[in-house]
Amino acid sequence: MARIDLQNLGHSYTPNPRSDTDYALKPMTHVWEQGGAYALLGPSGCGKTTLLNIISGLLTPSEGRVLFDGKDVTALPTEARNIAQVFQFPVVYDTMTVYENLAFPLRNRGLRGPAVDARVREIAELLDLTPDLKRRGRGLTADAKQKISLGRGLVRPDVAAILFDEPLTVIDPHLKWELRSKLKALHRALDLTMIYVTHDQTEALTFADKVVVMHDGRVVQIGRPDELFAKPAHVFVGHFIGSPGMNVLPAEVAGRAAKIGGHVIPLGRAYPPLNGGEKIEVGVRPEFATLAPAGTGVPVRVTRIDDLGRVRIAKVELSGLPMAATVPENLSVTGDEASLTFDPSMIHVYANGSLVEGE
Ligand code: ATP
Repeated sequence: MARIDLQNLGHSYTPNPRSDTDYALKPMTHVWEQGGAYALLGPSGCGKTTLLNIISGLLTPSEGRVLFDGKDVTALPTEARNIAQVFQFPVVYDTMTVYENLAFPLRNRGLRGPAVDARVREIAELLDLTPDLKRRGRGLTADAKQKISLGRGLVRPDVAAILFDEPLTVIDPHLKWELRSKLKALHRALDLTMIYVTHDQTEALTFADKVVVMHDGRVVQIGRPDELFAKPAHVFVGHFIGSPGMNVLPAEVAGRAAKIGGHVIPLGRAYPPLNGGEKIEVGVRPEFATLAPAGTGVPVRVTRIDDLGRVRIAKVELSGLPMAATVPENLSVTGDEASLTFDPSMIHVYANGSLVEGE
């Protein structure tokens, strides 16, 4: 298993990039630890595939280097990188049995005998494929085939990393959840470095120890799922993760208070003077803005209540600024006048989109 260093790594599909906007991947430096389960998460076009293809060797970056365990692999083709890949669509040989399909990557590397048998049976067991080992690929369902593809990716114990490119896209929704948790368990059991590309936050959050959030060709945050939730490093992370996402409101911030729409709201930390012309916003997740009876907090107008089953979300306007808040179980909302109370420690301040650390 390898530690992956991305050093000043960037890519432009345009031959002579002149500005930031010419880069599909803006130059970045990151270290991904050996044995980590990373998810690359971001909307379509943010550069996930470009980054994955550079790591796998399908694409040579226009700038910077990729190192596996300190060794520069930037110029090496995919075959020479010792990685396994699982794609969106299953790669299964129809004429081979499930056993032979799983053994193929090992035999292809020259392995023979009991070691192959033991590993194939271990992986088959982990993926619940043991009863199917003698069946041929032809005739299996798309779900079963994708499980075999996952198994083929996981079977080699010596790979530097396994790269998954949206591997559950074609899987039936009821099986998705099961396979996601299984992949997580497999990661723990097999101690492999895994990189999993997806645009689906649930998929990323259930699979990964560390989520790499990408936006517009940049990595905007690398963090544990709970860190991305509690302290988004960028307003984009706040919007993209969570449902509904973080409220982002224009504000003036001075010391330990934010002025939003004319109302002063206490903050959990003190902030340095932010008057250098930056665009200042505060971010607060709906989970930390709670609806309360009128007259008990910051006045808001309720425009709608959505009952999501486990929780009710209120759409409100704070001095005309739309935002979402949580409705406590015991609150009955009558009329459109209400208040909001905030958890000050969970209000964050952003300058030009990036988190400002308070003191
Ligand atoms: P998706 O989830 O849709 O696959 P992505 O996050 O993987 O998107 P990329 O496919 O890496 O994003 O694309 C990043 C940017 O680079 C996009 O603006 C895309 O149009 C551009 N791009 C991707 N491949 C090429 C190419 N071969 N030539 C020119 N531009 C490209």
